[in-house]
Amino acid sequence: MAHPLTVITGASSGIGEAAALAFSAAGHPLLMLARRLERMEALDLPNALCRAVDVRDRAAVALAVAEAEARFGPVDCVINNAGVAHLANVLEQDPLEWDDMIAVNAGGVMNVLHAVMKGMSQRRHGTIINMSSIAGRKMYPDHTVYGGTKYFVHAVSESIRGKLAPYDVRVIVIAPGIVETEVLDHVTDPKTLRAYQENKRKIGGGISADHVAASMLFAYQLPQNVLIQEICITPTRQQY
Ligand code: NDP
Repeated sequence: MAHPLTVITGASSGIGEAAALAFSAAGHPLLMLARRLERMEALDLPNALCRAVDVRDRAAVALAVAEAEARFGPVDCVINNAGVAHLANVLEQDPLEWDDMIAVNAGGVMNVLHAVMKGMSQRRHGTIINMSSIAGRKMYPDHTVYGGTKYFVHAVSESIRGKLAPYDVRVIVIAPGIVETEVLDHVTDPKTLRAYQENKRKIGGGISADHVAASMLFAYQLPQNVLIQEICITPTRQQY
């Protein structure tokens, strides 16, 4: 393979799907992971292995990475993107929604890191792009546990960046503002959803997932000794 393997979690919709299209167009073989296999297969990308994997399943993530590496060679870029946003009033919210966000947004990110970090450090090459959010930099109303999981991603990224820097492995944290995707489908609190949509309408809507994907590809394509540590990308009108 002329271009090395990129692994993308949450590749069945939104930002992950846009990243799959962008990295594939740039010539990379892909491992695409999410639960909705048919959505990934429908993209019909060349040199793309699609696997129905829940990122909460550490062994399944590791197995899929090993399978892709056997086929395409070592993974050089990981887009650790799968996530859920159950935004809600924390006083009313079902704690099962907290569990889900913590397991996917924090636990899932760690499971993916576990599958790739050691190999990258041994090869002294690699790029990890962890998906946080602007809600991982400052707190928003009704983002309590979601924001907590994204602060977690920021904290872990800071820590592993230091750990992996001596091995020339880059750790990028990406923190988007409002992006037009299916992310709001998981908001069950009608009041929170209304407030979010009203704010989004006021600023003229979110940005396209394609622009988020393009920023990740740009950062990845810089020379290995150049690291954009953090990308915070928002609609221009998103003031906070
Ligand atoms: P989408 O809902 O469109 O995409 C979420 C992706 O995550 C889907 O592909 C989904 O796949 C996958 N996913 C969810 N749970 C799991 C799981 N347990 N195992 C494997 N895959 C899973 O939303 P976005 O594209 O917006 O979200 C992508 C990331 O971007 C998330 O981490 C989100 O927090 C973050 N983000 C989004 C912003 C926005 O405004 N849209 C802003 C800032 C950050 P499937 O259901 O098929 O498993």
